[in-house]
Amino acid sequence: MLPIPIHKTFTYSVTDEEANYLQKGMRVAVSFGKTKLFTGLVFEIHQNPPTLYEAKEIHQILDDKPLVNEIQLKLWQWIANYYMCALGDVYRASLPSAFLLESETIIYKNEAFNNEELLEDDEFLIFEALQHQSQLTIHQVVDILGKKKVMPIVNGLIQKSAIYIKEQIYEQYKPKLVKYVRLHAAYTSDDALNSLLEELSRAKKQRQAVLTFFQLATSKKPIKAKDLETKANVSSAVLKSLVDKNIFEFYEIQTDRINFKGDTNSLKTLNEFQQKALTEIKTSFQQKDVTLLHGITSSGKTEVYTKLIQEVLDSGKQVLFLLPEIALTTQIITRLQFYFGNQISVFHSKYSMNERVEVWNNVLENKTKAQIILGARSSIFLPFSDLGLIVVDEEHETSYKQFEPSPRYNARDAAIVLAKMHQSKILLGSATPSLESNFNAQQKKYGFVALNRRFGNVQLPKIELIDVKEKQRKKEMKGHFSDRLLKLITEALEEKEQVILFQNRRGYSPIVECKTCGVAPQCPNCDVSLTFHKFKHELRCHYCNYQRAMPNSCAACGSNTLDTKGFGTEQIELELKELFPDYKIGRMDLDTTRGKFGYQKIIGAFEAREIDVLVGTQMLSKGLDFDNVSLVGILNADTMLNFPDFRAHERAYQMMVQVSGRAGRSKKQGNVAIQTYNPYHQILQQVSITDYQAMYKEQLQERWQYKYPPYYRLIKITLKHRDYNKVDTAINWLFKALYASFGEHVLGPTAPAIARIRNQYIKNLVIKIPPKQSLANTKNQVSKIKNTFEAVKDFRPIRFIIDVDAY
Ligand code: ADP
Ligand code: ZN
Ligand code: ZN
Repeated sequence: MLPIPIHKTFTYSVTDEEANYLQKGMRVAVSFGKTKLFTGLVFEIHQNPPTLYEAKEIHQILDDKPLVNEIQLKLWQWIANYYMCALGDVYRASLPSAFLLESETIIYKNEAFNNEELLEDDEFLIFEALQHQSQLTIHQVVDILGKKKVMPIVNGLIQKSAIYIKEQIYEQYKPKLVKYVRLHAAYTSDDALNSLLEELSRAKKQRQAVLTFFQLATSKKPIKAKDLETKANVSSAVLKSLVDKNIFEFYEIQTDRINFKGDTNSLKTLNEFQQKALTEIKTSFQQKDVTLLHGITSSGKTEVYTKLIQEVLDSGKQVLFLLPEIALTTQIITRLQFYFGNQISVFHSKYSMNERVEVWNNVLENKTKAQIILGARSSIFLPFSDLGLIVVDEEHETSYKQFEPSPRYNARDAAIVLAKMHQSKILLGSATPSLESNFNAQQKKYGFVALNRRFGNVQLPKIELIDVKEKQRKKEMKGHFSDRLLKLITEALEEKEQVILFQNRRGYSPIVECKTCGVAPQCPNCDVSLTFHKFKHELRCHYCNYQRAMPNSCAACGSNTLDTKGFGTEQIELELKELFPDYKIGRMDLDTTRGKFGYQKIIGAFEAREIDVLVGTQMLSKGLDFDNVSLVGILNADTMLNFPDFRAHERAYQMMVQVSGRAGRSKKQGNVAIQTYNPYHQILQQVSITDYQAMYKEQLQERWQYKYPPYYRLIKITLKHRDYNKVDTAINWLFKALYASFGEHVLGPTAPAIARIRNQYIKNLVIKIPPKQSLANTKNQVSKIKNTFEAVKDFRPIRFIIDVDAY
């Protein structure tokens, strides 16, 4: 198997000796084409010489035991067949890139390496060449050494950390721990306090520190050691001596959050509802391999998962815990690490090459520290040998689907297949299950368990809808805020509580338009208008990252009448800073989280209550658990509802319920305020009483009526090319060919909302597959038509993309 976008495998010849040594799943260095070197994977060892070409010899065997097991190979084949993609693409997507050296791979010297005496002769030659040249390709290594068999040498250099290969290296995140001060428990009574002040009457500085502490303590906020030092005008030594006397104690909020509800790292005791859910899940698993847990936000699903995980670990099997996006879920990682400490490994494409290789090897060898793997979608590709449980948290999340590049798979669905291959159980969890999963549960394909009570019996937040049109008419809007929302924000802040505001658009305003001639500046590479970013005073394309300074005058008519329309997170942040100058406003969107640890920094600051109001995009809706947020505001619900996609309503419901779920999680019932022009929209009505069942029934009805999943399946075909006419001719040809086979079930051709991105014109066709039509036959037919298409010389340069279950 070669890591190239080709369906086929290729036959190479080996000697008897090599044949005896080789096993399926080992890597071999081979050449392909005239000069290219690749890392191939042994897929089959057989005696049938190829008929169409002469089998080449392999260069070398790269492993002494298989790197990939039989179950993985089976999963790869399933993915290639189901998602109609090349086996080579799946192979490439599955292995950390350090395992896949090829001629074009670029290597760099590790500047920190100084153990040159460890290097073998050939290794040293390469290392030395890298002193003169900052980078080399494997191809150049072949030239320098004058031999083809170079992969083990390069592998050796990587293992000794003398070189690394091109990719971004991310550091592990270490949260900054802020030191806080509190009074020792012995001094909480008034009597104790008075005698304390007496006691300190001669230690003036210490007394000053204690008095200042009480002043600050009236604000109910945690008190930072640094702030206390400044305000009391004392040195850190003074605080230290008060801690030594057991009057103060230092603590750190990050760890405190976790220690909060139990001091040891033993699992929490489930409440009766969680316990009942756990029992039902176990009963369900006796009959069904897949079970859906529908647990409302903050019902304590994570604690239920941990009990199941513990039992599977005790039985000696492995656990895979899938998360939609690692960056956003540091909180869950911390929680699970707290319970399972050294048995847990995190796997993520943003981890450095070495970390990924290490996790791969630990899973392969079934090491203790890889008993639980916590990871985003690509962790389904790890070499598990004995999975006992897969948990798919927030199973409704779109980020489980990979859209680009191929393989375009859905990790939740592939995980169900993976579980079957291991005879493992799989639990899908969500507060807002996807329509498909809930449908499967209703059809009794999956088991189903509900958890309808918030932990601690806190009620779900009170949700109110605010009619913006009416507020405008009555002149009760200040900027983008209704008087009602402002009142709720003010009340929360006065109670020292925190606020989350959701606006699903970043930048300052998405449209810039000339008031004189109506022209809006466009991206030169895409068919989309540019978004204004005020902080940098520039216009940016959110599709290709094109950017330029905001012009002073209109390029079309020359007037100085450029105006902005609509609003994004940046504008909301600025308005808030004016409205609430005494509070700290933070913003979380793609622009503020670009840095290495962008998310974690902002989430950490919000947890530590250094931010009072956090404005953000949908990043805020994903599994975050803050205990002091009492209000969530949604500034404009309408953009979500008007999205041109058959899932728009389902998504809008999920997003709003999930963001709302961040309010009032621990102490008292929270508030949610949703601003909209259309308060009678059925989805908003359903959100306002968290009526999942009503949303589900109504959406399902529409899916049936308009022939969409879960009843019909969808295959989407996309063509892309720089030349509009080429794409247009090709898509019409394709439509006719598909129409001949599938008739009215072919939709299109259509141009997407953004019809050109990065100078590529885009056209789509969608094939709908009715419930009774064979999926396999349909795919065969589509493949045949694709082959015919690719045989047309004119069409060859056009990109042909197939996306199965394109949603
Ligand atoms: P969900 O994932 O369902 O939204 P979480 O698992 O995040 O809910 O739980 C919400 C909060 O309640 C968390 O802070 C969690 O630590 C706490 N919690 C849940 N179950 C328990 C329990 N059995 N004992 C103590 N605290 C719990
Ligand atoms: Zn103009
Ligand atoms: Zn662009």
